[in-house]
Amino acid sequence: MRFEVSRVLDAIEARLTLDPALARAVVDLAELVRLADLDRDAGRAASLLRLGHVLDALGRHLAEDGVAVYVVVARSLLSDVDLSSNERMVVRRWADDGLVEVLATEAMAGSGADPADRVLEVAELLAVPVLSRRRFPEYAQRYRWLPRGLLAPAAAGLSTVGEGLPGPAGTPVLTRVWRCPEPACAGFGAPAAAGGSAPITPAGGQPPPRLRAAAPTCPRHGTRLTDAGPRPPARVLAVRVDGAVRGRFAVREAAPVRVGRFPAGADGAGGAGSVVTLGPLLSEEAGRWISRSHLRLELRGAALVVTDTSTNGTSVRTPGGPVPLHTGQAYGLGDDDVIELYQGVELGRPTRFQGGAARPASVMADAPTVSIRLPR
Ligand SMILES: [Zn+2]
Repeated sequence: MRFEVSRVLDAIEARLTLDPALARAVVDLAELVRLADLDRDAGRAASLLRLGHVLDALGRHLAEDGVAVYVVVARSLLSDVDLSSNERMVVRRWADDGLVEVLATEAMAGSGADPADRVLEVAELLAVPVLSRRRFPEYAQRYRWLPRGLLAPAAAGLSTVGEGLPGPAGTPVLTRVWRCPEPACAGFGAPAAAGGSAPITPAGGQPPPRLRAAAPTCPRHGTRLTDAGPRPPARVLAVRVDGAVRGRFAVREAAPVRVGRFPAGADGAGGAGSVVTLGPLLSEEAGRWISRSHLRLELRGAALVVTDTSTNGTSVRTPGGPVPLHTGQAYGLGDDDVIELYQGVELGRPTRFQGGAARPASVMADAPTVSIRLPR
């Protein structure tokens, strides 16, 4: 089978995140690219496409489409000649765009240049599994939860090494925003000054700092981070279409999210905040019913508020019965409420929708999933 490598890499790119609210697993890219038996035609010592196979396996494991991973990149991989020059260029671009985390050489010095040091730390801070064939016996003293939370990639999928997740999550470092002294740091940059460039990562979606000797440190630069105040809270919602979860997104204070058939073009150029584009997932009937920009979600304090911006209206299913919303009407969502844009097209807390995607779309086939554009 031949496939368009650049399209597969684009599909993989859409699944990369350093956002603690959205990452579902953490990987050491240098390990994954060398798992040669993941390819049917395993000719190459290293291949970036193996990340795609592992993403597909994670989707099947979670029975969910569009699952995102936190990718840790050893700096040496950026010059690894076992990857093609195009693949090295792609990984560098991902790093510059803040989609993957490149480790500082200096930060690795004390640990024999092993990215596992950071991978296990991220797994613990985010309480997500590690996708790896390693068992990490050398880290068993430091991370008492091992081998819990390890999922081993194999050609047939992922096998559970230890039951359960690493933990505990919810550490205080994830309640603060951190700043790196390095100019234009992709993960911990300062907000735009006059004439300066905006940070790539929105403050609320910042990756977790490294905790070296309990001092928050930039994973990329090895520099000490300073505390820039409280991190805006996030609420994660899942998109379910015809019974299958097709993606997740986060809503944060002062960053409204517009959801619809094609919300990017709905109110002219630009527009603040993120957009969730459902168009490619919709049946013809659903596509006719759902407006280009159908609704807006905002976090106001602790309240997640949905405002209808559609032609045909929105329904909120609540424990007390359905609540219809028409253009301009707002409603504060309860934890168990489900927003219905059209029959079978729903938004709700991920715990309300368990999986349901029996055969999740493959990144290798560039199948459509929810498209989420973050503000830049
Ligand atoms: Zn930095």
